[in-house]
Amino acid sequence: MENFDYIVVGGGSSGCVAASRLSEDPGVRVLLLESGRNDTSKWIHIPATFFKILEKGVDSIAYLGEPSEALNNRPAIVPQGHVIGGGSSINAMLYVRGQSQDYDSWGQMGVKGWSFEEVLPVFKSLENNLRHSDEFHGTEGEMVVSEKGYGHPLSWAFIRAAQEAGIPYNEDFNGAEQEGVGFYQSTTSENRRWSSAQAFLRKAEKRPNLKILTNRRVAKITFADKRASGVVLEDGASYDCSGEVVMCAGAIETPRLLQLSGIGNAAELKEHGIDVVSDLPGVGENYQDHLESTVQGETHEPISMYEEDKGFAAFKHMLQYLTTRTGLLTSNVVECGGFVDVSDAGIPDMQFCVLPLMVGGLDRPAIEAHGIAIGPVFLRPKSRGTVKLRSANSKDSALFNSGALTDPADVEILMRGIRKGIEILEAPSLAKLIKRRMLPEPGIEKDDDAFRDYVRQTAKTIFHPSGTCKMGGDTDKMAVLDSELRVRGVQGLRVCDASAMPNLISGNTNAPTMMIAERCTRFMMGKETVEA
Ligand SMILES: Cc1cc2nc3c(=O)[nH]c(=O)nc-3n(C[C@H](O)[C@H](O)[C@H](O)COP(=O)(O)OP(=O)(O)OC[C@H]3O[C@@H](n4cnc5c(N)ncnc54)[C@H](O)[C@@H]3O)c2cc1C
Repeated sequence: MENFDYIVVGGGSSGCVAASRLSEDPGVRVLLLESGRNDTSKWIHIPATFFKILEKGVDSIAYLGEPSEALNNRPAIVPQGHVIGGGSSINAMLYVRGQSQDYDSWGQMGVKGWSFEEVLPVFKSLENNLRHSDEFHGTEGEMVVSEKGYGHPLSWAFIRAAQEAGIPYNEDFNGAEQEGVGFYQSTTSENRRWSSAQAFLRKAEKRPNLKILTNRRVAKITFADKRASGVVLEDGASYDCSGEVVMCAGAIETPRLLQLSGIGNAAELKEHGIDVVSDLPGVGENYQDHLESTVQGETHEPISMYEEDKGFAAFKHMLQYLTTRTGLLTSNVVECGGFVDVSDAGIPDMQFCVLPLMVGGLDRPAIEAHGIAIGPVFLRPKSRGTVKLRSANSKDSALFNSGALTDPADVEILMRGIRKGIEILEAPSLAKLIKRRMLPEPGIEKDDDAFRDYVRQTAKTIFHPSGTCKMGGDTDKMAVLDSELRVRGVQGLRVCDASAMPNLISGNTNAPTMMIAERCTRFMMGKETVEA
């Protein structure tokens, strides 16, 4: 059986960082196992075509939650990357880190060494920002962060209208102040997606000490006594590990794999006939995600991106992109938005994700007309969900309850966000372009019950599942990981994907996840420590 010093499970945002860093030492052998294929699809690399990946469902998987009363009996549908690069190969490329208070709050939850002051240098070391160079930004890292590729007229109109509605303009959501509206910076380079695979794996994949296997699905981790000793794959193959196994399979798959391997709530594992290796009741708990509802308006003129992906228009845009790397296809579609305090919280509690076209949900068709979609997203959800086992069969999907909107506070804050979105839609710079409001149906915001129902009917993920194997202090019974991302109660096993976040950060999760993975490798290689 082949033996490796390190086995990385999952080749997504975090897995590419981990495999790349660990294999920098030519003296160690690293295996990266990814259940999806390589990132060869052209739809991955052209910024504006990422929605095609979700449509096709080859390089993505849509996880289906249990139908929930809080979502008007709809199931949560949560697509995730299933390809080298994972989420970073299919996401909207927004480069956002969240607020300093997010990381400081992890410290208040008993996690040592993850205050903003301590994580900022890690973010900066990974960053190659093409515009900003100051105390908040790095310019020498692998992750290229660019200005918008394309500025759609409807994005500009939103930015002006939001200022008319009293929201300041902000050039840098990752600088001193998060609050304000503007264009997002993106993880793109020369108008191509700059995924974690492009940034980290491309240079590492040539190394003889790194073996990458795609289309290989891990079924469980094996243990010799309490030490992780390797992995078994769905196809029956197995690999030995003499150092550490690093879990990077994402916030839904990582807790599922831990439970299949005997790490989780002992009583639940026994019900499935699984031998308990470590009784950690927090595994698969604390699921958190960002949800948005929507404000949409139809425009008088055919000026949006509607149908630009069809027929001659699509051909023209592709030709322009392929010959000059310019034009509409350089857009990351969610070009602009911002962060607003809609509850007098003192810091932003709402993000806006704005698209220059009207969009549907995964369970709802888009309105067939030209228009704009303004998506208010709560930043710090109060609702929590779970990822548990359906059975001991590794081929079964997880029993997934997103818990979305189970805390009424999350509904109320989305209502406030929608009201703010309507205000922006009605401000002069957008009002003059808008023929009529399509969503929510005009007047509904005046009837609280109907308005709540609208939120429950339309709220959908913006794809940030997190928190299911949280870091936590020694006295926190629900903590799965210590502050150096080691799984409690066993040796030789760490988790460094989005599951490790104790609380979801106030923004998009790709950059924070890569930061967590980078730190994990520093702990593993003895370059950094946070333990006293
Ligand atoms: C559509 C979409 C849009 C998004 N937009 C943004 C955005 O604009 N900005 C932003 O910052 N964030 C965005 N995100 C979120 C961000 O991309 C994720 O938070 C991040 O990619 C999570 O990284 P991860 O390493 O935890 O998991 P992933 O990147 O999902 O990686 C997990 C990998 O593990 C593999 N895997 C799973 N199970 C197994 C197994 N059993 N064996 C082997 N391999 C396995 C998967 O195939 C996957 O490649 C978006 C996400 C999506 C899906």
